[in-house]
Amino acid sequence: NTKHIAIYGKGGIGKSTTTSNISAALAEAGHRVIQIGCDPKSDSTNTLRGGDYLPTVIDSLRDSGKTRLEDISAIGFKGILCIEAGGPVPGVGCAGRGINAAVGLLQELNVFEEFEADYVLYDVLGDVVCGGFAVPIRDGITDRAYVVSSSDFMAVYAANNLFKAIGKYAPSGGARLGGIIGNSVLPGYPQALIEDFAKVTGASVAGYVPRSPVVAQSELYGKTVIEASPQSDQAEVYRKLAAHVASNEQLTVPAPLNVTDLRDWARSWGDAINKEAVSSGTAAN
Ligand code: ADP
Ligand code: SF4
Ligand code: MG
Repeated sequence: NTKHIAIYGKGGIGKSTTTSNISAALAEAGHRVIQIGCDPKSDSTNTLRGGDYLPTVIDSLRDSGKTRLEDISAIGFKGILCIEAGGPVPGVGCAGRGINAAVGLLQELNVFEEFEADYVLYDVLGDVVCGGFAVPIRDGITDRAYVVSSSDFMAVYAANNLFKAIGKYAPSGGARLGGIIGNSVLPGYPQALIEDFAKVTGASVAGYVPRSPVVAQSELYGKTVIEASPQSDQAEVYRKLAAHVASNEQLTVPAPLNVTDLRDWARSWGDAINKEAVSSGTAAN
């Protein structure tokens, strides 16, 4: 019984880092894991494989037409099967159609069954969640989605967009929300902001990953934190998050804010932060 899990978030927010560390933690715990990069950047699985790029499914389909699993995959850390859907030639084509083609090919090749996957993680770019990037949550490919967000407005905006897409597709068999993963969210008001966004939208928070230099250091060696620094506190954070994502069955259809409500909500937080700064004397002088 394979669990298919999508992880969304705006570009650069830490999707691939978080997804790869979750995959690594699950694999380390003995599970069979497949990670599929669904971001045209095509670097989702790099830290599971020493930092190298993989030939993408889209490129392979375009170049050869018939594609074998060994042409478009590699075995990474602790046996994780790594695949990159790839992106369109810049300026031409649709990334979403590429994701569809990639997943279609994997189904055709019977990869999910033959690999006996316990977990398949989809690392999906989701700044806007257009029809293309909604493919993993839209067509019954995954049944649950998480969103990586910081307390920055654009990251929350992207999360809110995902909630809109979930609301649109969940009633007809699309994925539901597993929760928000706070990345680089400091304790104090940034964490309170995420908690409040979760509250007003009826979402839950899956966990918080602190910003840590161990992440960048591990990445320089083409490794996840789980592999490069297994004894670190940061590795423990990822293990705990992975355990939650693996076992969480509290899936919801969140209620996104409309764009003006989202702006007003964000402004109210801005005002609160300014007041706090003034009363503690950090803003006035
Ligand atoms: P995305 O996949 O969303 O585009 P990445 O996972 O590639 O983003 O992360 C972007 C950058 O941020 C990377 O250089 C990564 O090392 C760094 N990063 C992500 N999460 C953390 C963290 N918790 N602490 C420190 N650096 C992080
Ligand atoms: Fe790009 Fe999305 Fe439009 Fe496809 S649907 S071309 S991925 S914006
Ligand atoms: Mg990425």
